[in-house]
Amino acid sequence: MNFPDPGDYIDIHNHGATPATGIFTVETLMAHEDREPQNIRGITFSYGIHPWHLDEENHDQLIARVIKISGNPDVAAIGEAGFDRIKGPSSELQQKTFEEQVLISEELRKPVVIHCVRAWDELLKVHKKLKPKKPWLVHGFRGKPDLAQQLVSKGMYLSFWFDFVMRPEVVPLLKSVPKDRFFLETDGSEVDIRDIYNKVSKDFGIEIDLLKDQVYKNFCDFFRTK
Ligand SMILES: [Zn+2]
Repeated sequence: MNFPDPGDYIDIHNHGATPATGIFTVETLMAHEDREPQNIRGITFSYGIHPWHLDEENHDQLIARVIKISGNPDVAAIGEAGFDRIKGPSSELQQKTFEEQVLISEELRKPVVIHCVRAWDELLKVHKKLKPKKPWLVHGFRGKPDLAQQLVSKGMYLSFWFDFVMRPEVVPLLKSVPKDRFFLETDGSEVDIRDIYNKVSKDFGIEIDLLKDQVYKNFCDFFRTK
């Protein structure tokens, strides 16, 4: 996998990224799409089955694709994968497919990027059941501080939803999350990751360079190849 340079802005979750100087991106590939990882400077990939695009008919084919493609060295993580109570197939199928992807992650020793909407009990249940050794990152987080604490206490990392993180009222939550467990993302929106860093560095009262150092360190920890 490609790694960021220290000093890069890291966008931990994106869709449709194009290489940009000074920005390192984790690009999300979804198994229902016809896209494959490539060795592109400034980009590494996650690969998985998004619950929105899963159904009984395509399940076997999508899992086969994840098994085939996620071993590619340009794939750094499995996902986004997880649960969605608003959109997607039955919770049984979501759970089965998520567990399969967690097992692939453990087998390949690559971490998991999680999509979770109103299904925290389901997510935590699978975590308890499978006791994964590789870390999980909940992307697009916009929950309450006690939920954040609960996820962090299970060893998870959080990346905040790009719109949520820009709100002034979110500062107490940001400050409550341990500095070694957070990431920032654009999730394929028009938002510039540099603007998000700018805002969050002001919230923390630190220089941008210090924020970049912290996120770089978190990146190295999350993707550590133990
Ligand atoms: Zn996404």
